[in-house]
Amino acid sequence: MTVETTSIDTLVVGAGQAGVAMSEHLSKLGVPHLVLERARIAERWRTGRWDSLVANGPAWHDRFPNLEFADFDPDAFASKEQVADYFVAYAKKFEAPIRTGVDVKKVVRNAGRQGFTIETSEGTIEANRVVVATGPFQRPVIPPIAPQDPKLTQIHSADYRNPNQLPEGGVLVVGAGSSGVQIADELQRAGKRVYLSVGAHDRPPRAYRGRDFCWWLGVLGEWDAEVMKPGREHVTIAVSGSRGGHTVDFRRLANQGITLVGLTKSFDGGVVTFEADLAANIARGDENYLSLLDAADAYAERNGLELPEEPEARVIPADPECVTHPLHDLDLAKAGVTSIVWATGYAVDFSWLNVNAFDETGKPKHQRGVSKEPGIYFLGLPWLSRRGSAFIWGVWHDAKHIADHIVTQRKYLAYYDDEQREAHGRRENSVASVENTSADSRVHKVSEMGVN
Ligand SMILES: Cc1cc2nc3c(=O)[nH]c(=O)nc-3n(C[C@H](O)[C@H](O)[C@H](O)COP(=O)(O)OP(=O)(O)OC[C@H]3O[C@@H](n4cnc5c(N)ncnc54)[C@H](O)[C@@H]3O)c2cc1C
Repeated sequence: MTVETTSIDTLVVGAGQAGVAMSEHLSKLGVPHLVLERARIAERWRTGRWDSLVANGPAWHDRFPNLEFADFDPDAFASKEQVADYFVAYAKKFEAPIRTGVDVKKVVRNAGRQGFTIETSEGTIEANRVVVATGPFQRPVIPPIAPQDPKLTQIHSADYRNPNQLPEGGVLVVGAGSSGVQIADELQRAGKRVYLSVGAHDRPPRAYRGRDFCWWLGVLGEWDAEVMKPGREHVTIAVSGSRGGHTVDFRRLANQGITLVGLTKSFDGGVVTFEADLAANIARGDENYLSLLDAADAYAERNGLELPEEPEARVIPADPECVTHPLHDLDLAKAGVTSIVWATGYAVDFSWLNVNAFDETGKPKHQRGVSKEPGIYFLGLPWLSRRGSAFIWGVWHDAKHIADHIVTQRKYLAYYDDEQREAHGRRENSVASVENTSADSRVHKVSEMGVN
């Protein structure tokens, strides 16, 4: 193959933040590895997000421990391009052995011998271990209720870029997590008539008593929660770093001109029907918001923190008309709605992974990323080890755990009894040095790192 080697100890698939973090820990521990990325480093931050997206957390928080954002206010929110540049700079810092433009197409466990055979767009490679770092949000999901109507423009939030992309007319945004609320806000500010379909959500305050919610979730141990609370599987989190960062407040969005509607139930003959759950969803979002203020106050008091009090944060304005008298249905043509943006989340796609690492429902079966198929690891998935696992800071810590596990496994496999030790010593002495003829500096790096 044109990739520099035909075998490697550990292959990492994907060079988003997860792949870069994995490579840093493996490099530090001296584990020979190669990262294969089908596009560019942090490609999803560059081309898989809308133009105006900024990080949801401030720069001091949404980063890895060993590098700060250059020339950037730590309390500000980096743009998606700055986030992507950050990961490129990070990878360069330790000369991560990343090979871009290589698509991993299939991974199969070897029969009767160790390791895996991996088919890529550049040929075949073998590895003792494979770390799957292909992202928590791979395949945009549009629910089956989406109407088959050629008159409507329908896109997923993954394909939304900016308001100019949509035709004249109103927009229904389905889903009010961080993506949905920010896209709805942007479309309304661009002069569009917007309907926002709001389901169950959490909406932490952007900041409270002078501290960002990322800080509060950290000190309160919320980022480290190991399991999702029961019944919270479909609860999105609505936060925004846009325009300097602000608390997502659905009443403010309504007062601004967005029509809030309940969960989108069905489409029939050009009419969309909504669940009668809008007021309850807004009320539960308020509960979540207020419970974080309560927890923050209790923490501040218990620890004697002198943070400025902020009683005004508890003032919840009256419900707007669209919440008190919600729409139950909407004739899209009559309302002038010409497009739908589905901000309805993502699924993973592991169809290329032909290994025994999944449960009966097809979900990866693992403990903190160490799968039940020895040698296969998952990184970057939501709730891999904790709530923070799919986020920038969290994936770095999960990668460390996986790297430690790999080192331990390598130690077991390096065990020799006396006879083997003697034979191994004889073999080592007769190994000829491998001449490296490639012009690519990363090729040298990988070979130096002990390609076997
Ligand atoms: C709209 C949005 C905003 C977000 N904002 C934030 C935020 O502000 N802060 C935060 O901490 N998190 C945020 N996240 C969550 C998370 O940080 C991102 O989703 C991040 O991109 C995940 O990084 P990753 O490396 O795990 O996966 P990805 O970034 O998805 O990277 C996976 C890489 O694998 C490559 N790949 C996939 N399959 C293959 C294959 N078969 N062969 C080779 N390469 C392959 C892809 O090209 C990709 O580059 C956001 C997510 C979304 C969707």
